[in-house]
Amino acid sequence: MAERPRVYKTEGVILKRRNIGEADTIFTVLSEREGKFDAVARGVRKARSRMRGHLEPLTRSRLMLAQGRSLDVFTQAETVDPYRNVREDLERTAVALSCVELVDRFTIEHAEAGAIYHLLVALLEALDEGLQATVSRHFELDLLAAAGYELQLGACTLCGGRLPAEETLLAPAAGGLVCANCRPVAGEGRLVSVAVIKVLRHARSVEIREFGALRMPPEVEAELRAALGAVVRYHLDRELNVPRYLRDVEALPG
Ligand SMILES: [Zn+2]
Repeated sequence: MAERPRVYKTEGVILKRRNIGEADTIFTVLSEREGKFDAVARGVRKARSRMRGHLEPLTRSRLMLAQGRSLDVFTQAETVDPYRNVREDLERTAVALSCVELVDRFTIEHAEAGAIYHLLVALLEALDEGLQATVSRHFELDLLAAAGYELQLGACTLCGGRLPAEETLLAPAAGGLVCANCRPVAGEGRLVSVAVIKVLRHARSVEIREFGALRMPPEVEAELRAALGAVVRYHLDRELNVPRYLRDVEALPG
């Protein structure tokens, strides 16, 4: 690994925090250049801390850090965008935090995550501008694609065959929509309606803002949320199983 500079600047979104000791807090940051990392802010919970307001979760900040023995240490923080409209609305805050949690779970510390960083910033901006909470569905599709799990929606994922306009199986293990013939070998999945398939395809063909302007009937919105939620859970379960599998390999005798 290349030698890192002792002091460095970066810009990032604060994902979460956890307090340690009497006045210190560890913040998890997603940055464009450094990927996801943890760093500690010393004394940040004291009333006179100048950094406190610039290190809130969901805030995008310019950061200066110094290399520490185990964790790097924040030396300066300055807000670029507090996404105030997100923060002041309970529903928007909840949507943003659930997307941040997905980002946290789909990224590995210090691995390249520039594309995911830009997706997260675009989501926070869309929510801050007052677009519908359904922008998080667009974000989930983008995040899956950035993590290497792009859903195949145009033709049958397994045989490439044409998909008639009817209820179709969305099978995460197969990687997308699956025709009736391939269903027996597609693994688990759920049938999705023609309306949801149309919305999924639309989402992949437009930017997040344009998607946020689309009005959906509540039942389509609910079905879309459940369908994508199942795909996301499937991949997260698999990701969680990788470290366990590696541990099992390491534990093998010899
Ligand atoms: Zn097929």
